[in-house]
Amino acid sequence: MTSMKGSDITPADADPIEVDVAIVGAGMAGTTLATVLAKAGRKVALIDPHRVHHDEFRAEKIGTDQIRLFEKLGLDKTIMRLVTPFDDIHVFRLGQLFARERRPEYAFSYGALINGLRDALPPQVPITVGKVAEVSTGPDRQRLVLNDGRVITARLLVVATGHSEAVRRAIGVERVEQSKAHSLSMGFDLAIPPRECGYQAVTCYGRRASDRVAYITVFPLGDKMRANMFVYRTVAEQWTRDFRANPQKMLCELMPEISAQCGNFAVSSPVEVRQINLTTTQGHRRDGVVFIGDAFWTTCPTPGVGIGRVMIDVDQLHSVHIPRWLETPGMAADKIAAFYDDPVKLASDEAGMRVSVYARRITTETGLEWRARRLRNNTARRLMIIGRKVRHLGMRREPGMA
Ligand SMILES: Cc1cc2nc3c(=O)[nH]c(=O)nc-3n(C[C@H](O)[C@H](O)[C@H](O)COP(=O)(O)OP(=O)(O)OC[C@H]3O[C@@H](n4cnc5c(N)ncnc54)[C@H](O)[C@@H]3O)c2cc1C
Repeated sequence: MTSMKGSDITPADADPIEVDVAIVGAGMAGTTLATVLAKAGRKVALIDPHRVHHDEFRAEKIGTDQIRLFEKLGLDKTIMRLVTPFDDIHVFRLGQLFARERRPEYAFSYGALINGLRDALPPQVPITVGKVAEVSTGPDRQRLVLNDGRVITARLLVVATGHSEAVRRAIGVERVEQSKAHSLSMGFDLAIPPRECGYQAVTCYGRRASDRVAYITVFPLGDKMRANMFVYRTVAEQWTRDFRANPQKMLCELMPEISAQCGNFAVSSPVEVRQINLTTTQGHRRDGVVFIGDAFWTTCPTPGVGIGRVMIDVDQLHSVHIPRWLETPGMAADKIAAFYDDPVKLASDEAGMRVSVYARRITTETGLEWRARRLRNNTARRLMIIGRKVRHLGMRREPGMA
């Protein structure tokens, strides 16, 4: 049995709240899991220190693959009310228009999305606002004591606390740094309104390895144009300080091919910056408790796989594992191991980590192998750009030739 005592616990005299599943952390993973389990008739407690999720820079758009996962869980209608859809994306590579992609994407601000999902929780799962002061886990029942003395007992404890360490540490699991300061994500608003922007949405990749820029993506979010930029740098370096001080100047230098259409990159908000570490977890195979979403692994936002990974965790738990676990007595570690060994989850986590590492190496590595790979990719892209231009010319000439 794992146990941690808090310092300011009032002895809980009230009867404990008894549930099938206690979920700690009401972010993307916790809130969606609570919703689908409650709809399936499970008794659930969802605990978070804050009733309202604060506004923070996190994922700001998803594509059709992720929407399909929400659809599978019956959450797509809620999500659709909270997003700005768009479907016309100009993609620039090597300083030129590379492709015009007509595929739907959906933009949102993370805090508003999570609050919308929380508002849509079934009435039988109110958020229990509180901090976990004591946690004990074991092969039969899990016990949480909140800092106001309330006690929650559950057959299964789900830890969905994102980047936060308190509950993970209390249970005794460790983060393992796979790549420290792997990348930097930056988010800011452009001054130009969507109706005046030259593109509905645009993605522009970095040109030189020495720039250490993966790409910038500019997209409509409500009545603003929002930009997310992903670079392989650290918060402390001079480049980052210069960018924060004068994003417009640096963007015009880095991406001149799209600057005029983006209002010369006049920026109307502070630049939010988040350093990203790639992490895995060790010591998590324990009785009574399962770790999901960013509380288990963190990947890089550059390839945009975080939300997909979270939703696969939720889907596999809800549709495969939790129903099986609750069918039989006990909640020992060997039962829970089925989730960590689930081939669908493993494939999703491993692919997320693999593309996170690859995206950085293909952008920045200067060794012979990576220079050769970039040359191969860029040659293929140049040929595609030429092919597109030739086709375009052909189409323009055709009427005159006829
Ligand atoms: C800057 C940035 C950009 C990103 N961009 C993308 C993107 O473009 N595409 C993509 O797919 N993914 C992206 N991601 C990843 C994605 O945002 C995350 O993978 C996802 O939001 C994780 O959800 P979660 O539920 O695991 O954690 P969170 O949503 O962080 O939820 C954690 C919850 O736990 C609560 N909590 C914390 N401590 C405690 C405690 N002690 N007790 C109880 N509750 C607690 C918090 O209040 C919070 O509500 C990005 C991430 C970052 C940082």
